[in-house]
Amino acid sequence: MPTGGQPEEELKALLPASIAVRFEEMFPNVRNGRIKRRDRRRAEMLRKAEPVLQRALNPLEVVRFTTNGVRQLTWWLLTAGSMNPFANRTTLVLTDRRVLLIHTDSKQRPRLFANQLPLERIRSTSGRNSYVFIRSGREQLMFHGVQRSEARQLKGLLESTATKKGGWQNLCPHCFTATDDAPLSCAKCGEVFKSPKKAALRSLLFPGLGDLYLGYRKYAMLEIIGASLLWALFLSTLVPAVMAKGLDGLLVAGPLLALLALIHIGDALLTRAKAMTGLHSKDGALPT
Ligand SMILES: [Zn+2]
Repeated sequence: MPTGGQPEEELKALLPASIAVRFEEMFPNVRNGRIKRRDRRRAEMLRKAEPVLQRALNPLEVVRFTTNGVRQLTWWLLTAGSMNPFANRTTLVLTDRRVLLIHTDSKQRPRLFANQLPLERIRSTSGRNSYVFIRSGREQLMFHGVQRSEARQLKGLLESTATKKGGWQNLCPHCFTATDDAPLSCAKCGEVFKSPKKAALRSLLFPGLGDLYLGYRKYAMLEIIGASLLWALFLSTLVPAVMAKGLDGLLVAGPLLALLALIHIGDALLTRAKAMTGLHSKDGALPT
């Protein structure tokens, strides 16, 4: 097989030097002689994830493919989570051993937490358009917002790896030790993680506070502003009604109060689900 043309050299120069990459799987089209923009983007993606990959991967582990998309768990679709794509951008890295999910900001820089799914735990995979579905036990991961061609490529690579035993693993954001559970601190390095229960209680107290605690600042601000407006509306309905009609005025504001209660409870549940998607370290950072 002929190798070593110019485009290939150019792409190789873009890849992170410390990570082993299976070039022909990562860039299947490059032999046609032209580097596509998405090939270049994929190389950059890997470079941004390099600090995490350096620590998380084993010395002989090889990266086969990567893409950045939005991670969605089935449960989230029923909630506001589905309107929340910027809070769960994720770089997916497929290696010869696992699927590594690195939570990122919108510029693909690692943030907050990481998970992995060892390849032998994948039960089945499928895909349609820009979606890739990975089933492993009870939970199905939906990965979307990916280029169609990348989704196709990823699906093809994953299909060869389906087995029986399911279950995603959480990675310690500090030492990258894998665990099947969601401990409150790392058994190996002692890193302390944020508690899903605390996150939920904070959001129950006021929507957005739990997200703030977990480190989703922009999303938290939006929620706090939204909920504050609703509360202001509630109070500005309640106060004049009570002044005019006494206790009967309470009834006027009843529906709004019910809505507010629903929002508080809904956000608490959503925040808990978000907290449980990965181990959120107290310092809130993956290496970048
Ligand atoms: Zn650790």
